Amino acid sequence: MKRFIDGTKKQFKANLHCHTNLSDGKWTPEQVKEEYKKRGYSVIAITDHEHLVSHNDLTDNEILFITAYEAYIRNLPFDAKLDSQSHINFYSKTPENKLVYYTPNHTKYIGEEELKTLKYHHYVESREYSVQFLKKMIEDAHKAGFLSCHNHPTWSFEDESFSEAYRDCLAMEIHNYSAYTIGHNEFNEHYYDYQLKHGSKMAVIAADDNHNAHDTNSPKCDSFGGFTYILADKLDYESIIKAMENKEFYASCGPQIFSLDCENGSFSVKTSNAKRIVFVTNSHNRAVFLANENEFVTEGTFTPIDKVEWVYVVVTDEFGKKAFSRAIFKDEFKNA
Ligand SMILES: [Zn+2]
Ligand SMILES: [Zn+2]
Repeated sequence: MKRFIDGTKKQFKANLHCHTNLSDGKWTPEQVKEEYKKRGYSVIAITDHEHLVSHNDLTDNEILFITAYEAYIRNLPFDAKLDSQSHINFYSKTPENKLVYYTPNHTKYIGEEELKTLKYHHYVESREYSVQFLKKMIEDAHKAGFLSCHNHPTWSFEDESFSEAYRDCLAMEIHNYSAYTIGHNEFNEHYYDYQLKHGSKMAVIAADDNHNAHDTNSPKCDSFGGFTYILADKLDYESIIKAMENKEFYASCGPQIFSLDCENGSFSVKTSNAKRIVFVTNSHNRAVFLANENEFVTEGTFTPIDKVEWVYVVVTDEFGKKAFSRAIFKDEFKNA
């Protein structure tokens, strides 16, 4: 049996996309720690725009900070209202990594002092929003010890023709909560299906992308709506990064997936109370489990036919909140 979401492992709740007052967010990193910690989060990646600093000093026994930043790639002149752009999160595999690629000197977010601590290997004045440039940037970041996530393609007005640039990313944001609070589509399922159809093996995360311009009791608060559960043996930098590299995580904005196994070509999933569980595939051969009125479904099984190339699970709860597993590919499940 193969355990794709291993029910014997602990699930650490993570927000892997977060802004502070080091870029355009309102909270300090300390406030982020306080607010997320009291709501049960175990992992935070502070991904300030173009601002790569370690927040290792905030890590304690209950909450771990991943060193990361968010890069944006646009063509100039840039019309923020109309033009397509790219946002990518880079997560460092070690807390003190200062190798950063392609940071332009026109950024307003990195301070002079931090700038001196960074090592530039392929310094460029400005970036280019092209498939070729993005591919190279992601490839170089991987070589420099970063994991990558393609952020909010719908919010960025990114065309499917650009998806090729991101095929080797570790993951993409299938859900971005701040998009919800500002009237954009927070879900990017169509883009994920497109990536899978064209051979990408990427996984999925859900994240807040919080900027905290509104109080926590406001419906416009952009925190605590999208999260990723990381399955790891213990809560330390090495174990969490290893779990991320192994794609042992799933995305959620509500429901939990307790386990996802495959044995003799048959999947079984166990979840928190749901109204709908779907095994999504590249074909019409799927399985759906729907709850009767006043009842819930909490499990499902599925044996895909031979033509199925990949399978992922989508769980929807009574509030319409969803959870997504990563896609499991034929070479992973056919001999399970
Ligand atoms: Zn962004
Ligand atoms: Zn962001």
